[in-house]
Amino acid sequence: MIGNFFDIDKELLAVDKEVMELCKPYFERVDEVQQYNQLKVLKAFKENRISAQHLVGTTGYGYDDMGRDGLDRLFADIVGAEDALCRHNFMSGTHTLTVALFGVLRAGDTLMCATGRPYDTLLGVIGVDGSDENYGSLKDYGINYQQVELLENSEPDLDGIREMAKTSTVCHIQRSRGYSTRKALSLEQIGAISKAAKEGNPDIIVTVDNCYGEFTHKEEPCAYGADLIIGSLIKNPGGGIAPTGGYIAGRADLVEKCGHRLTAPGTGREIGCTLEVMRSMYLGVYFAPMITANAIKTSIYASCLYNKIGFATDPHYTEDRNDIITSIAAENADNLIAICQAIQHMSPIDSFATPYPSPMPGYDSDIIMASGSFTMGSSIELSCDAPVRAPYTTFMQGGTTFDASRAAVLYSAQKVREISKKA
Ligand SMILES: *Cc1c(COP(=O)(O)O)cnc(C)c1O
Repeated sequence: MIGNFFDIDKELLAVDKEVMELCKPYFERVDEVQQYNQLKVLKAFKENRISAQHLVGTTGYGYDDMGRDGLDRLFADIVGAEDALCRHNFMSGTHTLTVALFGVLRAGDTLMCATGRPYDTLLGVIGVDGSDENYGSLKDYGINYQQVELLENSEPDLDGIREMAKTSTVCHIQRSRGYSTRKALSLEQIGAISKAAKEGNPDIIVTVDNCYGEFTHKEEPCAYGADLIIGSLIKNPGGGIAPTGGYIAGRADLVEKCGHRLTAPGTGREIGCTLEVMRSMYLGVYFAPMITANAIKTSIYASCLYNKIGFATDPHYTEDRNDIITSIAAENADNLIAICQAIQHMSPIDSFATPYPSPMPGYDSDIIMASGSFTMGSSIELSCDAPVRAPYTTFMQGGTTFDASRAAVLYSAQKVREISKKA
């Protein structure tokens, strides 16, 4: 059917057919998780008695905003947390992580990252990005930092974590691979890290950067020892509908502290009007299990298809997913650029635009980014980006609608095959 709408050659359409067959058992696994999570979400809507009144917003201070407070409670129930802040006032994943870390850490405390070097944008937050600016990083506020590297095989170093936990206040875990070559962590690995950290220091606070991990499994890290989980609403849990926002969920006392950091100390979470975003936020979280499942299917399909035409991918299509990122070893700059441009050309928005590699602040090589999304910068929608340097790995993520994403990925495979003359 894709051939009726887009110019894909016969040979590749046959590969697509074979790939769909190979992916079938793995798609079924995704369907099961989706079904479980969708029912969990519906039950939480019922139990929290969400009504039409929750969907309309307020202005000004937003005292007694029932939509806001209802969403906080609903979200907490969905992720298995005591409490949550699920707010449009969080401007990005990085901002949400910043509020959480500043919320629980005090001068003289020590933050330990248990999974090696954290996500790029966190380096500035921690104050280890090499800059001397006094812009109010954790370091500027007298909060120390240490990290435990992952082992050679990318497994967490449990002995190292147990030992370093003795001198740490917070144990921070990054679930997703981000844009690195390691694997995303499984819930069991997160459980093992939490256990080791708490053996070293029973008072330690375990925080999990859950970006890209939400709804990939039946449970969230709260069920595996996390005291706080943090994420962005323009990724999985916003369901492609929330226009902005983030969440912090977990232990009630810690969420409360984060509320005071989000607004003003002493005022806390009781303030913050909701304007006109509540309907999108409720609808987004309601759709999130289905949308995340579509993104995972896109990842499985892309991995299998690219393997079939001769490119190495990670994770393999048969592997369990803990985030929605797929990396493709494009082998050279021309292939990498062709893949990203093709994804852009098959996006619903700005399909007529062509991305080119260009310099980005904070990166030592040119970056190419393809994203034709309804929400700017959204990465639950299909997008593709890469630094243009050896080993020419391109990162593909998202896909809210499997049928459209499959066509886009297939088209990108056709384009790269044309120039690389593979398979
Ligand atoms: C996206 C992401 C972040 C940061 O989110 P932004 O919205 O880009 O600020 C942090 N950690 C991980 C693992 C992410 O995937």
